[in-house]
Amino acid sequence: MKKVAFIKRSNGKHWVGDGFPVRNIFSYSDIAAEMSPFLLMDYAGPVNFPPTNKKLGVGQHPHRGFETVTIVYRGGVAHQDSSGGGGSIGPGDVQWMTAASGVLHEEFHSPEFAATGGDFEMVQLWVNLPAQDKMSAPGYQGILNHDIPEIALPNAAGSLRLIAGEYDNLRGPARTFTPMNVWDVRAKAKGEIEFNLPAGHTCALFVLEGKLTVSQAHTVNSAELVVMDRAESRLVITAEQTTTFLVLSGEPINEPIVGQGPFVMNSRQEIIQAVEDYRHGRFGVIENSIN
Ligand code: MN
Repeated sequence: MKKVAFIKRSNGKHWVGDGFPVRNIFSYSDIAAEMSPFLLMDYAGPVNFPPTNKKLGVGQHPHRGFETVTIVYRGGVAHQDSSGGGGSIGPGDVQWMTAASGVLHEEFHSPEFAATGGDFEMVQLWVNLPAQDKMSAPGYQGILNHDIPEIALPNAAGSLRLIAGEYDNLRGPARTFTPMNVWDVRAKAKGEIEFNLPAGHTCALFVLEGKLTVSQAHTVNSAELVVMDRAESRLVITAEQTTTFLVLSGEPINEPIVGQGPFVMNSRQEIIQAVEDYRHGRFGVIENSIN
């Protein structure tokens, strides 16, 4: 049975632009090696927004060297980027944006959500790319709710939405550069769940709502991340109440990480180059800006 390495709680809330009140759950500036290939997670909400005709969110900004993965639980997000990718997503949908060599993008509440207002809840993950792919062409995968297989867990313990990776010989729709699993799980109260995950891979659970007991001893509450030891493969979970959680596992990328703001590369020199390329307008233009 896998053992708990440690449990991490957010150290406070901050706003990303004027649309996303987030708790940073982890970052490569604190637990880079433990979470690789995952670089960062921000948890936005849950929060209620009144109706508005304003564009709430983050205007045009660059990224280079990794992927941003946005999972919407409640509300809606619109995105446009300089690779031509974009669209509006709602509950259950996922945007998987490969910044790689560089994009400019903007992230706002979707016009449909802004018009009605309501509850908003979203996770944004940053996923690292291996050095050999950091300067690959950018890309965009809009993955809709109905593209994501939803699988019943054994013993009626709940259900699993397979966003990326494999479960029970099925594959999730997201294309990834390195092996990883991103599973969105809903467990019933008193549900007993066992997962088999590759030994040697990073493994962590993030609880959105509810409460889990992990490895028969460790309580994990809402907005907490439990990071497991990489040894062993059998992960044992009990849901103490109805619980929504994410499973993140993946093969670690054992390469140096040097980041600054929206850029995550392997060396200081590559960061200096990214800043220079951005200053000189080498990240392209957003053709279909959200308005
Ligand atoms: Mn961004």
